[in-house]
Amino acid sequence: MEWIDTHAHLEDLRFSSDLDEVVRRAEEAGVKAILTAGTELGTSLRALKLAERYGKVWAAVGVHPHEAERATPEVLAEVEVLASHERVLAIGEVGLDFYRDRSPRESQLTAFRRQVELAGKLGLPLVVHSRGAVREVLDLLREFRGIKGMLHCFPGGPEEAEEVLELGWYVGLGGTLTFQKSALPEVASALPLEGILLETDSPYLAPVPYRGRRNEPAYLVLVGKKLAQIKGTSPQEVALCTSENARKLFGFPPAST
Ligand SMILES: [Zn+2]
Repeated sequence: MEWIDTHAHLEDLRFSSDLDEVVRRAEEAGVKAILTAGTELGTSLRALKLAERYGKVWAAVGVHPHEAERATPEVLAEVEVLASHERVLAIGEVGLDFYRDRSPRESQLTAFRRQVELAGKLGLPLVVHSRGAVREVLDLLREFRGIKGMLHCFPGGPEEAEEVLELGWYVGLGGTLTFQKSALPEVASALPLEGILLETDSPYLAPVPYRGRRNEPAYLVLVGKKLAQIKGTSPQEVALCTSENARKLFGFPPAST
């Protein structure tokens, strides 16, 4: 079985002392590729460095909504330079967060729009964070039909998930799928596997039974198994289909057989 973790933050300092081990455990668990996403220029550069260091790690570069005020034209020009590297597969993590509102909404909207435009210019897919703003995110994406991506750590309900698929986008599901009282199993059961990507968002949102601890890509398998249970299918089928989706969207290299 081969799994792909489409969203992690391996450049997070919580991995600085044992990343070799973390990557080795992912390998042992069958996680064959990991997309690690920057959140501003510094972490984007670190993500790229890790992608150069580990064969199974690939990078997304971008400015997160929490850091939107840092997304000056100069910084976005740097992001564009990083994005042209062959180990960069996407623009991200970008988006809108009107829940925590750590930067002014006006700056968030501008930074997001500029980076959606950048993805279009470079022909790269997007990794989008949305919290308390799924309506605003979907409305903006509607203006840019043709640009594809994933809504990571999907924050909406079944109708919004359907809208995501209508746009040709993917719904990212992670550890929250395994939480008690999660609304996501309902979303997942209504969606075809063809519209789903698996992710960990490591070091955040570790699945049960690791909830509250540091998450890592090896735990992706727990999310995949939970999804198989919800869909009434095998983990093999889930691994095959979601990895194929990830390859289609991001262009990860083909499965090693
Ligand atoms: Zn993230």
